[in-house]
Amino acid sequence: MNIDTLTKLYIHELKDLYSAENQIIDALPDMIDAAHDEDLKTALRNHREETQNQVNRIERIFQSLDGKPTGHKCKGVAGLVAEGNEVLKDVDDEAILDAAIIGACQRIEHYEIAGYGVARAFARMLGREDDVELLTETIEEEGAADKLLTRIAEHHINLVAARQN
Ligand code: FE
Ligand code: FE
Ligand code: ZN
Repeated sequence: MNIDTLTKLYIHELKDLYSAENQIIDALPDMIDAAHDEDLKTALRNHREETQNQVNRIERIFQSLDGKPTGHKCKGVAGLVAEGNEVLKDVDDEAILDAAIIGACQRIEHYEIAGYGVARAFARMLGREDDVELLTETIEEEGAADKLLTRIAEHHINLVAARQN
C-alpha cells in the first residue's frame, strides 16, 4: 500500500491495531494460565473479553472505509508478546511470575494506548466523529486495564514478590 494521504495512514494505523488486538486475544490464555493470583487472572480474563469488543469496533470503523482491517501484522505487539513469553519461561517463583506477567501486559497496554491515541487524532482531523467515539471507548478500556494492573501490582503482588529480594 502506498501511503500518500492522511486517510491511508489512518487506515494503516487501524490495521496495525487490528492485528495487535487479535494477537493479544491469542496470547492472553497462556498468560491467564500462568498467573497465580486470582485477581490478576480475573483482570486478564475480563480484558480478553473487552479486547474482543475492541476488535469489533475496528471492524465497525472499516464498514465506512476502503478495504478490510486484515493484511498487516503488528510487529510491535508480536515483539512484546515474545518478550513476555520469554520471561515467563525464565521465572520460577509464583509472585515473581505474576509481577512479570503484569509488566508484560502493561507494556502492551501502553503500546495500544499510544496507537489508539494516534488513530483518534487522525480521525478527528478527518472529521470522522463516529470513529472518534468508538476509539475513545477503547482508549478508556485500555487505560482502565492498565490502572487495574497497577493497583493489583502495588497493593498486592509486588509486596509478595518483594519477599524474594
Ligand atoms: Fe486492546
Ligand atoms: Fe504495531
Ligand atoms: Zn489492552
